[in-house]
This record gives sequence, C-alpha cells and structure tokens, in this order.
Amino acid sequence: NAKRKGKNRLEIYNQDEHESNEVDFALENDLHKAIERGEFSLHYQPLLHLRTNQIIGVEALIRWNHPKRGLISPATFIPLAEETGLVVAISEWVIEEACKRLKQLHTEYPRIKMNVNLSTLCFLQHDLVESLERLIQKTNVDPRYLEVELTESTLMPNASFAIERLVQMKQQQIKIAIDDFGTGFSALSYLHRFPIDTLKIDKSFIRNLSSYRGEAAIVKAIIDMGRSLNVSVVAEGVETEKQYKFLKDHGCDYAQGYYISKPLPFEELLLFLQEWETE
Ligand code: C2E
Ligand code: MG
Ligand code: MG
Ligand code: MG
Repeated sequence: NAKRKGKNRLEIYNQDEHESNEVDFALENDLHKAIERGEFSLHYQPLLHLRTNQIIGVEALIRWNHPKRGLISPATFIPLAEETGLVVAISEWVIEEACKRLKQLHTEYPRIKMNVNLSTLCFLQHDLVESLERLIQKTNVDPRYLEVELTESTLMPNASFAIERLVQMKQQQIKIAIDDFGTGFSALSYLHRFPIDTLKIDKSFIRNLSSYRGEAAIVKAIIDMGRSLNVSVVAEGVETEKQYKFLKDHGCDYAQGYYISKPLPFEELLLFLQEWETE
C-alpha cells in the first residue's frame, strides 16, 4: 500500500522538521544523490572503560552535510532513508567506511572496537550476512572488533528470526549490542535467548539519574542484569561528573557521552586518543 506508506513517512518526517511536504520530497530526492556526491561522513564517539579509564572503542555516527541546508541529523534522515529503502545503500557505505577506519586505528590502537548502527530494514535484508562478510573481507578487519548495534524494536517483532540471524552474525565473530535498551517493549523473557555481547542503556535513563530515584533503580537493575547475563553494559548520554561517578560506583562497564567526548571527525578522534593516552 504505497499511498499509506508515503503518508506515514511524511508524518514521521514532519514531526522532526515542521516543514512542507514539498521540501520533504526535495530532501528525499537529495538523499538519493548524497552517497555519490560524497555528502555523508562519519563521526566517532569514544567509549570509556570505567574501571581502567581506557578508551576501548568508538561508535560510528553518520552525518549528512547537505549542500544547501547544512548538517542534517541522522534522527531526521535515517527514518526517511528507512522508508525509501535508501538506508541499505547508506548502510553499506557506513560499514565499509567504519571498517576502513577501524583498520587504520588498529595500527596504533590494536584493542579498539568499532560500533556501527544497523536499522531494521538492513537487519531484515536476506543477504545481510553475505554483505557483512564481503565488507569484512574487502577491508580486511578482524570481525571480533566490529560490534553491530540493534534496537529492541528491530529485534522483537520477530524474535525467532532475529535470534537465528544474530547466531549467524556471531558465527562471523561479529559482536552484538542492544541499543537504546529500556525504551522498547523489552521482553525480558527473550533477552537471555539473544546471543548478545552488550546492553546500551538508553540516555533517557541517564539524564535523570541524579534527580529521580526511579531512574537510578532502573540503571542499577540493568547493570546487575548485565552482570548475571554475562554481557557488558554501556551507559549512553553521560554528560556530567555526577552521572559518571554514579555509573562507576555501581559497576557499569562503559560510559559514552559528552562528559567524555562528543562524536568527533576521524582526524580529531586521533588527536583525542593521543591526548587521552598521555594524560
Ligand atoms: P544512537 O545509536 O543511540 O546514538 C547515540 C546518539 O546520542 C547520537 O546521536 C549521539 O551523538 C548522541 N549523544 C552522544 N552522547 C550524548 C550526550 O552526552 N548527550 C546527548 N544528549 N546526546 C548524546 P546522533 O549522532 O544524532 O544519532 C542519532 C541516532 O541516529 C543514533 O542513535 C542512531 O539510532 C541513528 N544513527 C546514527 N548513525 C547511524 C548510521 O550510520 N546508521 C543507522 N542506521 N542509524 C544511525
Ligand atoms: Mg547506537
Ligand atoms: Mg542509543
Ligand atoms: Mg537510537
């Protein structure tokens, strides 16, 4: 039902941009050309291991530098790319670029990990496993240092399919993280059946950590659950020293957020890592 789909897309998009439909179609048109025009780039946000104070990984986050409109947030254009199917080609580009950078990072920082986000449509592609394999071969990276981030809303609608697919990715030695954990329809009864390595606590829980007892209780519960399921726990959106201390004191494994660093262009990431090591 193309008409209904198109309508939904515009609604989703308008929520973010408050602009006319005309502009939406223009943007969709621009999105088609953005890859070949080289308008995408990746920024990299460091992940801090709280116990050792070491940067152990980075998350690749896409940026679209639109020739007329400037930087457009992925929160705006990824949903559009998802609805139009363009996200599959964009994702290929993202994973290849991220793997090339991972390879480059490994010459100096052999233990660093690269996280990439995968949208629902990409996760459902019948040839996902093959195309990941191809990109790993092409860039010659060690797949054990590649972690794919998926949300509960990607995994849950068809959990048995998802489990099967995750098992295939694990056979490729790729690592799996659940992103924005706690915001989806967390079917906790399923969690232990997913072969995951990492839980990333959504930033909405971290934001109110110090002011609301409920948030603190949830964060503590996720940290404990991670420990008993033997998966790593990352806190997203760590912005203050108070939040950082809370997470460290309660045994959270990793922290990511502006308190440590905002997402950085690759060259700035290299400088950041250098400075971090010498401190
Ligand atoms: P995400 O994967 O949950 O990424 C975390 C988001 O939180 C990023 O937003 C990051 O810039 C932001 N962030 C990091 N630290 C802080 C902090 O301390 N405070 C606050 N308020 N925000 C923080 P960004 O880069 O705008 O990306 C938004 C979302 O877009 C991502 O959420 C992810 O779902 C999606 N996305 C980004 N890159 C890609 C991509 O290459 N492919 C796909 N499919 N989705 C992507
Ligand atoms: Mg993510
Ligand atoms: Mg997230
Ligand atoms: Mg997200």
